[in-house]
Amino acid sequence: MQPLLRVCSLSKSYQNQPVLHDISFSLNAGEVLALVGESGAGKSTLLHLLAGLTEADSGEIFLDETDVTAFARRLVPGYPAVKLVAQDYRLFPNVSLRANICYALREYSREYQAFRVDQLLELTDLLLVADRLPRQVSGGEQQRAAIARALAERPRLLLLDEPFSHLDALHKQTLRQNILALVHTEGIGCIIVTHDLLDALTTAETIGVLRKGRLLQLTTPSQLLLSPADAYVKALVESGLAVVSAVRALQRG
Ligand code: ADP
Repeated sequence: MQPLLRVCSLSKSYQNQPVLHDISFSLNAGEVLALVGESGAGKSTLLHLLAGLTEADSGEIFLDETDVTAFARRLVPGYPAVKLVAQDYRLFPNVSLRANICYALREYSREYQAFRVDQLLELTDLLLVADRLPRQVSGGEQQRAAIARALAERPRLLLLDEPFSHLDALHKQTLRQNILALVHTEGIGCIIVTHDLLDALTTAETIGVLRKGRLLQLTTPSQLLLSPADAYVKALVESGLAVVSAVRALQRG
C-alpha cells in the first residue's frame, strides 16, 4: 500500500536561520501522526509547508503520489485536498457557525449541505450553538467549528495545530474519539501538532518528536515510552509519565 503522504528531506530557513532540517516521514490514510515539541521547534512551519502555504527550501512532499511541493507557488496558495486548522481558527466573524461550515460546501446540493453540516455539528457537539456567531460562543466551540469546517469537504489530509488547546477535559475526550472515528471511517490522514505528550500518546498511531527543527524520533507511542531515542526524548517521556503518576497517587488517596 502506498502511503497517503510522503515527506522527503524537507528543509526550511527564515532569514538564514534553519527552522526545519531534513525532515522525512510518511503517513497512511486513516492514521494519525502527532508531532510533539516545545515552542519554536518548527511544528507550525512544518504544517504550513504541508498545507502549501509556505514554500520549502529543499525536499519534496507527495500526496497520493502527486508532487505537491510547489503548491505554495500558486496564485491561491494551498492544496484543496489538504485542510489546516490554524490556532486562530479563521472563522468568518459575521455569520453563524452553521454558515461557516456550510460555506465549505457551497458547490454541493442543498440536501447534501444540510446532511453534511448536521453530521459535522453532531460530531463536534455544536448542534445547540450552531446558529450563533463565532463571538457568541466559547473558544473551544470556535475551535470545534473550525475543525468541522475543515472536515466538510472530506480532505485527504487534515492538519490540526494544537486542536485541544482550548478544550476542557470532557470535550477533549469526546472530540478526540469523534475525530479518530471519522479519520478511520473516511480514510483521512491526520497530523496533530501538540506540545502535550499525553495528548499525543492517547490520540496518535505514530509520534514524531521535533526539537530545533530536527525530527529526533518517529515511532509508536509504546516504543516512545520503552525506547526513547536520546536524553531529550527520555526527559519528555518522564515529564509526561510524572503527570500520570501524580494522578494515580491522587486516585489512591
Ligand atoms: P512551533 O510551532 O514549534 O512553536 P514555529 O514553526 O512556529 O514553531 O517556529 C519555528 C521557528 O521559526 C521559530 O524560531 C520562529 O520564530 C521561526 N519562524 C516561524 N515563522 C517565521 C516567519 N514567518 N519568519 C521568520 N521566522 C519565523
